[in-house]
Formats: sequence, structure tokens, C-alpha cells
Amino acid sequence: MGEELQDVATTPSGASVTSAPALAGRLHDLWSFVRPWVPFLAVFLLLSLGWGAMATRFAEGAGQPLSAATGPTQGEYIDAFWHLGTGFLLALPTRDRRLLLITPCMSLGLDADHVFGLFLPSAVPRPDHSLLFALLAAAVAYAWKGPLARGATIAAIFTHFAVDGGTFPFLDPLTFARWPLSIPASAALLLGCGTLLLLLQGTPRGWRDTRAWVELAVIVAALTGFLVWIGPVSWLRT
Ligand SMILES: [Zn+2]
Repeated sequence: MGEELQDVATTPSGASVTSAPALAGRLHDLWSFVRPWVPFLAVFLLLSLGWGAMATRFAEGAGQPLSAATGPTQGEYIDAFWHLGTGFLLALPTRDRRLLLITPCMSLGLDADHVFGLFLPSAVPRPDHSLLFALLAAAVAYAWKGPLARGATIAAIFTHFAVDGGTFPFLDPLTFARWPLSIPASAALLLGCGTLLLLLQGTPRGWRDTRAWVELAVIVAALTGFLVWIGPVSWLRT
């Protein structure tokens, strides 16, 4: 009680505000939680960049023409928030802080391959949007951090595919053919990713919690509705 009185002050309007030492303590706690995941996320980013470089070289070797770097557009920034937001939403029904941190970060990190095409010449658009990259990233996550990180990695990558639009080189660098994802396929992927996260062990809410499923159904329906609404012309599909 005494500690609470020390940490919380009251404004003239009666609203309580957190004192500087309490805020510093909370930031310290937050950093203690985030810090162990920083190397993991950094390695995911490096893997993503490395795969992009490797696939670009393979595509070049296979005779794919190089496109010039285009530079970032406003749509790229909106796209970044879109991937952060959708990764967060899919992890939300689990109420797990670890998943709420790493799923959005990895969903965004998959677009590290935009370096090729935006800042460097590229022989294949979006080279990391490949099932083989997903396999590699999931294997590294499992070997390093176990099943929770593997589940988050798979969910992050497939959520990214589901909300990205356009066509994907799903089997690069074996082939640079591209496949589209239909809206029903995107909806199924979103539901699958949310289900996978709810099936993970040790989260505050799991598959036994009916409210988590209701929440997931609402989130998937809302995202699918949004994808239908924006249609084929949007920042996501350019
Ligand atoms: Zn993407």
C-alpha cells in the first residue's frame, strides 16, 4: 500500500499518474522481458536477408532479368503497420506476451526481402515469400527456442502470406514460378495460424477457452471482410 502511494500521484482532475521511478521500473521490467528475444528476432531478420540474397543470386543465375531498385513508397510504410497489426491480432486470443511480441515482429521481418527491389536490383520480387524459407525459419526457431517459437514463426509467416495479396514465389529458389492466394485460402490460412497459436502449450489461454475461439473467429472474419472490401487495387497489391 505504502509503495503504491509513493508511486502513484493524483492530478487536480483526480486522475492518477505514474511517478517517474514507477515508470522506470516498468520500462526495466519490459526490457527484461524483451531482451531475451532480441537475438532471436535479429537472427530471423538475418535469415530473411540472407535468403533474399541467395534467392536473388539463384534467380540471376537462372537468367531472370534484373529490375532496377525503385525506392520505398508510402505504401511500404502502411504495409509495415499492416503486418505488425495483423500479426498482433492473430496472437491476441492467446493473451501470451511472448507471442504478442514475436509474432508481429516476424510477420514484419519477412518483408526484409524488400531490400531487394527497393534498394538493390532484384531478379525476383519478394524472394522470402517462399514455403522453403518458412521451413528453414521454423526449424531454426525450434532448435533454438522450442515449440512456442516454432509455432509463432509458422503463424507469423503464413499470416503474412494471407494478408499480403498478389502472387508469391512459393517454391523459390527451386522455381521462380508465382502463385496467387484466393480470399478463401487467405481466410483458411488466418484461421489455421490462429488455431496453431491457441494449440501451443503454456500460454495463458489455449484451445480449451471458448472465449479465445470466439475472439479468433471475430478477428478472422474482420480481416477477411477487410481483404474483400479493399479488393484487388490497394497498397497491398501493388
Ligand atoms: Zn510481404
